[in-house]
Amino acid sequence: MTEYTVSGFLFVSPLASCAGVVGALTQPMDRSRDLMADWLPPSGIVGNRSFVRTGTWAARDDPRNCPAAGAVRARPGVVARSASQRTKDPLQTFALGSLMTALDVVEYQRPRTRERPAHDGLVTWTVAMTARYLAARQADQASQEAVGRQRTHAVEHVWVARRELPSADHRGATYYEQTCWGRRYASLDGAIREIWLLRPGTAATPPGDAELAAAAYVAAFGDPCANDAFNRRHTPLADLPPAHYTRPQQVRIVSFSCTDGSAVQLLDWDCEEAARRYSAEAAPALARTVEGSDLAPGSDCVKCKALVGCTAVHQSPGILGIDAARRPRRSLSVSDLRAYSACPARYHLTRQLKLRADRQEKDAIRRGRAVDAWLNMRHGARLAAGCRGLPGPDDPSQWSAGALSIAGDEARLGARMLAQHAALCPLDGLAESEKVLVQRQVTAYDPELDLLLVATPDLLYTRAGGWIWRETKTTTSYLWEGRPLLQQYPQLALAVLLVASGALGGDLSRSRIELELLYPVESRDVVYGS
Ligand SMILES: [Zn+2]
Repeated sequence: MTEYTVSGFLFVSPLASCAGVVGALTQPMDRSRDLMADWLPPSGIVGNRSFVRTGTWAARDDPRNCPAAGAVRARPGVVARSASQRTKDPLQTFALGSLMTALDVVEYQRPRTRERPAHDGLVTWTVAMTARYLAARQADQASQEAVGRQRTHAVEHVWVARRELPSADHRGATYYEQTCWGRRYASLDGAIREIWLLRPGTAATPPGDAELAAAAYVAAFGDPCANDAFNRRHTPLADLPPAHYTRPQQVRIVSFSCTDGSAVQLLDWDCEEAARRYSAEAAPALARTVEGSDLAPGSDCVKCKALVGCTAVHQSPGILGIDAARRPRRSLSVSDLRAYSACPARYHLTRQLKLRADRQEKDAIRRGRAVDAWLNMRHGARLAAGCRGLPGPDDPSQWSAGALSIAGDEARLGARMLAQHAALCPLDGLAESEKVLVQRQVTAYDPELDLLLVATPDLLYTRAGGWIWRETKTTTSYLWEGRPLLQQYPQLALAVLLVASGALGGDLSRSRIELELLYPVESRDVVYGS
């Protein structure tokens, strides 16, 4: 076999029929890279760094990801030097896992395993989604047969693209695995392989190109392996019928929406295409993840092995001032608190299990998101006069901000709100030397409760040594004096706690929290000290 690097991510073409293609696309491995610095783990992390495992998650491009957390996650052999005492949630908290278990019973005739109890809402959802999944599979197979394709059958073992190196590379790695989480199918002769991705959200929101190429690569080049490999290498299976070792001619990736129960084919490639797209799109993204070292605290902290010793996350024991029993590690945001306050079961189902109702977003919420997105783009551009003097949407009755589009009355209302903001923009006249952060996650970790507080202010900026936290809200109803502002907008209460705890740093006496309310007709600018 010949070794190649693909934009820094090492892989090998495991089959003769594709070797020519891969060879033509890549450069022979540059041994001088062996002399480069090893990947250095974050503080408090020890153990075996030579085993690297990536899934499609590692090819996902999300600016909120923590690079160091991704690199740690990609190394199953590393552990925290002083791991905190972890407790287990009494209920199941991974909804897609519950659906997978149900489909295992149906597709592999596997006996039910004993698991933690599930909330009644999760049981109902799992039963309904299992039926929709099986119906979607049946419809998909019928359409494949209609165009002369073979049927595919459930494959119980996993496919893992593996690579053992003769010596450690520049990352200190000697062994690579690539996996793809989903449901696997193959034709009886092995010529077609499929992976169905179970995705939250609707089928209309597909994964990125790099993620897709990483999934296709595993389907095309993965070896049959035993399923059980928690924190250790996958074991290749040796005694399967020969068709399981045949390299497929076609690979398909299908997305199944766990929100609306629909299925959409995302790609249908031959293995040459899979190798080409892997090289162009997935390999650079995987390499970035595996080599990540910058620390960016945020939602990633919850599952990160490096959290306890992390130098970037703000440690704030007792920040909530409550005496509660230690629970499994979790994050807590204003949306979590709102859901819990409305109904604890709703919190569990929508925030912990992340089950979403398949219903249309309310117009006012969509309008608010569009106004936010518009302002975020403006503020990210960091113009000297902020939004002052900038024109609003060309057509106020129909406009979009990024991927969000609104039309009609809500669009007109939103455009009027944007016009009002121009007069209130806090960046107008802000010195160039001041920092401006748009939609940056702010976190604080309470090690006693094993709890991570997470907030995403609309805008953070510095002024004369202090940090200003600004929330901009669109509303059509005026403030009611009988209800405390911090109750009406609990994100302000969380902001006070986080700023006062020093999560932002800076001079506390010069820091404050601001609320900007945008109405269809006039605006109010409310300022609170921290
Ligand atoms: Zn502005």
